[in-house]
Amino acid sequence: MQPRFLAHYHEINLKGNNRGWFETRLHQHVESLLRDLAHGGVRRFSGRLMVALQPDSPLPEIERRLRWVSGIANFALAWEVPAEMEAIREAITTLLRGRNFDSFKIDTRRGTKDFPLNSQQLNEQLGRFVHDLTGARVRMEHPDLTCHLELVGPRAFIYFGRIPGGGGLPARTGGKVLCLLSGGIDSPAAAYRMMRRGCRVQFVHYHSFPHTTVDSQEKVRRIIGILARYQLEGMLHLVPFAEVQREIVAYAPPPLRVILYRRFMIRIAEALALRQGARALVTGDSLGQVASQTLDNLRVVSAVAAELPIFRPLVGDDKEDIIRLAREIGTYDISILPDQDCCTLFVPRHPETMAGKEQVASAESMLDIPRLIAAALAAASDETIPPDFSRPQEQAT
Ligand code: ATP
Ligand code: MG
Repeated sequence: MQPRFLAHYHEINLKGNNRGWFETRLHQHVESLLRDLAHGGVRRFSGRLMVALQPDSPLPEIERRLRWVSGIANFALAWEVPAEMEAIREAITTLLRGRNFDSFKIDTRRGTKDFPLNSQQLNEQLGRFVHDLTGARVRMEHPDLTCHLELVGPRAFIYFGRIPGGGGLPARTGGKVLCLLSGGIDSPAAAYRMMRRGCRVQFVHYHSFPHTTVDSQEKVRRIIGILARYQLEGMLHLVPFAEVQREIVAYAPPPLRVILYRRFMIRIAEALALRQGARALVTGDSLGQVASQTLDNLRVVSAVAAELPIFRPLVGDDKEDIIRLAREIGTYDISILPDQDCCTLFVPRHPETMAGKEQVASAESMLDIPRLIAAALAAASDETIPPDFSRPQEQAT
């Protein structure tokens, strides 16, 4: 009996007429994700996705990658037999051989209702059967082993554990956005949250090279390699920011520096986003986390975006929540490596926490904003970063 991976959709089940389109996107995504691994094909049937396996399929690697897929609620390594009592009993007998457990339960789900017994009757009959076979007790709460039985038309699937998928919506179902990515902990987590909602995320990073080292650029490339696991693409726009910072430092009051840096970042990002066909900007701001992220400051920073909304998916999250997410998605260890971010340059001791519109406008009146934006855009470069599928211990440090 050859097992296969059986995946259940997440929110796709709530979609009405568009459902087929969401399913197709998910199907294509899983095919691309597993392209370089031996398997027997990805198929859809009855609101599920199935990855057939071959004797030489690398199960742990396929499992590792399926955990990354948004649009999948959970999946399992499942064995398929005809939906007939005798075949099910026989399969359970084979699959339980060599497993040690004192307690168990049978958990039946009927995807279709054409089987003569209902779920409760199946749980009872098979529970008795397994008890007679092994001597183990049925236990509903925290059993040592849960044997799942799923009936879909003429097919029955048996499996012993559900593995969580990415949740959310499939990649490439939500449109393009541009994320302002620093080398820090927050912005990669923010980008991931948007991917989980189906967005194709492109990235922009501002650097002050040669005032800072190239470390922040290298970090950002590595972070995008990890993030690209989730959407299978990673487009980075690198924008030199030293000139903008020089002008701000020369002409604007020190307490406003960081706010003005951010306003320029948003202006440049908006221009880039519009060129790329992106429909929103994304940042890693979290309310009140640092001086530049007070409500007043976020307001004056947001005010410079003329056409696109700015999404801040972490705005209401605590730092611990963000760190937990960053660890889960695999970006945390890279984010905490030391680097010199452009914003650590020329940062005043007492930044403004309640910047006002007029105050900021007057500080910017000395600056040639269109020229600075045009120069930054002219000097920007693009690169495509492939997904980094290496395991943590293999990643370069
Ligand atoms: P992060 O961990 O994402 O750096 P942070 O808590 O350090 O966030 P800030 O440094 O105040 O916060 O930056 C706020 C947001 O501004 C970041 O989340 C990111 O979206 C954007 N940002 C900051 N610096 C840069 C940069 N050098 N390039 C691109 N975006 C940046
Ligand atoms: Mg930062």
